[in-house]
Amino acid sequence: MKGIRTGDRQLIRDLNMSIVIGAIRRHGPIPRVDIARMTTLGRSTVSELTAILLKEGFIREIGSQEQEEKRRSLGRRPVLLEFNPRARFVAGVKLAPRMVSAAITDLEAEILDTTEVPLDEKASEKAVRQQVSRAIREVMSKSGTGIEKVVGIGVALPGIVDNRTGVSISPRFFLWQNLPLKHLLEEEFGIPVFIDNDANAAALGEKWRGRGREAENMVLVTVGVGIGGGIIINNQLYRGSVAGAGEVGHITINEDGPECSCGNRGCLEALASDSAVEREMRSLVKAGASTAVVEVAGGDPERITRAMIVEAAKAGDATAIGVVRTAGQHIGVGLASIVNILNPEMIVVAGEAAQEAGDLLLDPIRETIARRSMGVLAQRVEVVTSALGDRIWVTGAAALVLQDFFGVPIYERGRPVAAVSLPELMQGS
Ligand SMILES: [Zn+2]
Repeated sequence: MKGIRTGDRQLIRDLNMSIVIGAIRRHGPIPRVDIARMTTLGRSTVSELTAILLKEGFIREIGSQEQEEKRRSLGRRPVLLEFNPRARFVAGVKLAPRMVSAAITDLEAEILDTTEVPLDEKASEKAVRQQVSRAIREVMSKSGTGIEKVVGIGVALPGIVDNRTGVSISPRFFLWQNLPLKHLLEEEFGIPVFIDNDANAAALGEKWRGRGREAENMVLVTVGVGIGGGIIINNQLYRGSVAGAGEVGHITINEDGPECSCGNRGCLEALASDSAVEREMRSLVKAGASTAVVEVAGGDPERITRAMIVEAAKAGDATAIGVVRTAGQHIGVGLASIVNILNPEMIVVAGEAAQEAGDLLLDPIRETIARRSMGVLAQRVEVVTSALGDRIWVTGAAALVLQDFFGVPIYERGRPVAAVSLPELMQGS
């Protein structure tokens, strides 16, 4: 949230504007009188603010509804207002070890166009910046969107990111340290830029457009090369004190387990990431287990990949099923603790591995949570895969922008917490 500046008229106006547009987004098509009632703002304030929103194209007027007509026996047909998600656009960017993906979305995080440009893992800071801006310019031109219509750029990338300063502190797959990416891109494009850890962004993406839309408290875990997480509490992303919250992959599962990329031992990531699953399969093969995966890998256990294991498991290969199950059980142990601590109503398991494996991975996760977390909490939590698939990353990056753009009012039980009318404010100041 933006800092509170007591008595600041502009802030109050922004807040009210945000409340009005929020009411129209959530409840539209809606007449002005209902907006006033719903937000507790004065009718003149609502008229004044909706006039601005209409002029800017954020909302549009549509004909009256028959229902409305019936209800209002006086015969006055109120004009209904609805949100126009295509009034402006957002650019969402995801950095992965070998690729920059970019998308243009509307104001509801719906993707309109995407593009991908290659990225060398050993790329210099300058080369990364060049590829990021190339991807943004490419997708804007592809979708015919001018920069004046773009409200902001969101960037999701691996590792530790300070979202407040916009610095990529420790990017995990890349070589730089403390890259001020937000500042650099704002200088280049002249619009607001938001950067965050990719799993945090993914959680927001799922919240905006995926299964998380109905969940107030949700934990998203991404399973792939690494294991990451994002936490939504009361509809808001929870970042913790140094923006490091949600490191689900580094929960200790086995104190004496294999070494993890973070330096600890027996982290979830060291037991259930792609490389952990591959290592497990190799050791079973070396111990004499029979599996079709060896043939697929051309007889060389070193060439076994997670994709091969999941493929074989789906085809009924018992050894591969066992390996996927074991990974799911480890993830379930980690998530059972999270269920006990946060009591979320939904856990979304995202990432390529989860998407491909589906219930082969999710069932052991569900069983382990049911067995290991507190009864009532376990019964209430739904464990699902992402509804967004691969699109989760760029959708999430765009949601970083949208969360700020629409983010001023805080809702409690469906109602905005603060609504102040302008006349009220004038009297006060
Ligand atoms: Zn670790």
